[in-house]
Amino acid sequence: MNQKISIQKVIFVGAGPGDPELITLKAVRHLREAEVIITDRLVSEAILETHVGSNALVLHAGKQRKREGSTPQRIINELLVEYALQGKKVLRLKGGDVSIFSNLLDELQALNRYGIPYEIVPGITAACGAAAYAGIPLTARNYAQAVRFLTLHNQQAIAPSYWKELAQTEDTLVFYMSGDSTHELIKELLANGIHADTHMALIEQATTPCQKVFSSPIDAFEKQFGNRDYISPTLIIVGKVATLHASLKWINNQENTDELYFKPVTQNKQEEVRA
Ligand code: SAH
Repeated sequence: MNQKISIQKVIFVGAGPGDPELITLKAVRHLREAEVIITDRLVSEAILETHVGSNALVLHAGKQRKREGSTPQRIINELLVEYALQGKKVLRLKGGDVSIFSNLLDELQALNRYGIPYEIVPGITAACGAAAYAGIPLTARNYAQAVRFLTLHNQQAIAPSYWKELAQTEDTLVFYMSGDSTHELIKELLANGIHADTHMALIEQATTPCQKVFSSPIDAFEKQFGNRDYISPTLIIVGKVATLHASLKWINNQENTDELYFKPVTQNKQEEVRA
């Protein structure tokens, strides 16, 4: 006799930016109950070690720029659908918030095609985590009226007319996935007339014990830190608010440590996903 499989909701969960305590109670409850967890690279190992049930299957589906071993989106979509159709409790764990610069849309559409239900649990996005742990209030009164989340990940992402607007605005600009593009970022903003006093803060490995903040007026940034190969992940905050880091910071940079908090994606992890 055919037993009818009951399909469970796939739970999309934001794991927060790094510090394993920056996760919601709802996320923790779902992690305990999940049977299959498909996780991103930018999720603290401590979260998996602490909250995942011992029988759960954990699949690493990380993506990393310029790295072999990134898991193609198609495979992630297939895994979500495959395990959900087997009746498993599937949880998709994403760094930061689930919807900011992620492929949430793709994954939800894949589930929709099969009529698989889902739930979305938000998380603390890197901009909020990094700003808090660097002492930079993103929309401080008299400093900024608004904040924009942007990326230079894709070279064509910002049109020339938009660069002009970005250089002229009083809004705080937060750039995700742009650590490798700092030169271009600074060049474009200066070329389009950004005020030279505007500060830029680059936060490496925010909210982790390895966090480092590099901050200076934007036109002096490269001279001061230009030779550094920034450690992934990094977030860039540009605007008047970035000047506040100097007086409001509550964590000092660790000297002489360049440890990696998040492991790079590897070919091995990729095989694990296929297994
Ligand atoms: N969904 C995530 C963002 C994914 S895109 C979120 O809401 O935060 C990946 C980018 O996020 C990285 O390239 C980096 O710019 C940023 N990021 C994520 N975690 C970070 C951290 N701990 N420190 C600095 N930047 C981080």
